[in-house]
Amino acid sequence: MDVIESLKNRDILKMIERAGKITLKNHGDTITLERAVFLSWWCERGDCAFCYMSTQKPRIKEPSKARRNINAILAEAEICRRIGWNIEFLSGGYGSFSGEEIKKIAERIKEITGAPVWLNTGITSELDIYGPEVAGITGALEVANPDLQRKLCPSKPRKDIIDMLETAGDLGFKKGITLILGLGETPEDLEYLFEFIRDLRIDRVTFYSLNPHEGTVFDDQPQPASLYYAGTVAATRIEFPHLEIITGTWIDNLANIGPLILSGANGITKFPLFRMFGTRYGKRVEEEVRWAGRKLRGTFTDTERLMTGRSYPELDPFIERYVKGCLKNIKVV
Ligand code: SF4
Repeated sequence: MDVIESLKNRDILKMIERAGKITLKNHGDTITLERAVFLSWWCERGDCAFCYMSTQKPRIKEPSKARRNINAILAEAEICRRIGWNIEFLSGGYGSFSGEEIKKIAERIKEITGAPVWLNTGITSELDIYGPEVAGITGALEVANPDLQRKLCPSKPRKDIIDMLETAGDLGFKKGITLILGLGETPEDLEYLFEFIRDLRIDRVTFYSLNPHEGTVFDDQPQPASLYYAGTVAATRIEFPHLEIITGTWIDNLANIGPLILSGANGITKFPLFRMFGTRYGKRVEEEVRWAGRKLRGTFTDTERLMTGRSYPELDPFIERYVKGCLKNIKVV
């Protein structure tokens, strides 16, 4: 099957059917809930055309204040452990923490969750400081077409991302990329993506769909069509049966989840966890997974699990705040 032709011809259902079978055969029927844990709300680059951070940069006078409290970050890790969510990666604007600081945070997270973490903390050549606390390195490519990527992410040169991923591979880390759909790419651009995955032996791709932010040039642009998103994921799954695929869906697009799972997603992400947990939106995510005929690892609704866990004196005030934040949204019947 020429998947790019199929996508262009909108043979989406055929692709989804094929991709679904490939996924079940190679990955089984479990779907993970993934959470990107942010380190800061500031970005040294701050000029990607679609990004919320690019609208904030001029407002933040003291970048050090945009760093999150480390205990809050670690408390979030404990919450994820309790409810069975994976930490998709540690993420955050460029230049907010040093490599050594990120390493220490990753070590603490590994102690809490028992699993090494992926990083998505910017382009760096300083990867040899990391060890078993890190599972993989993510390059935030965002756009597969090199010309479009240069235009939309002027301060994230593709070559630097490639160099970083090659170094990551040499050091024995897994390699991932993030990609946003709806930024003006075409189905033909999938060729660039496939080449990238093949050449760099990428282990994991996280797809997002455009979330139009006020103040950016995409402010008034539509999000990509659900079937285009599903078709793109299915095409990627058919081409790369063993690839780990994560798909991002914001709260306003929960109906995408079922089709994305059928198209080959292994995990789903990009939810405002504390706002959705236990609410009809969290329940909806679980329903989407159930109606796709898959099993969900972790929970979006089980408050017992949310409230039961280990205690850490320095983290407890933050854990409590997060738990309370979730519980206040839940309707008692
Ligand atoms: S580098 Fe990342 S955080 Fe910074 S503006 Fe670009 S997409 Fe946003």
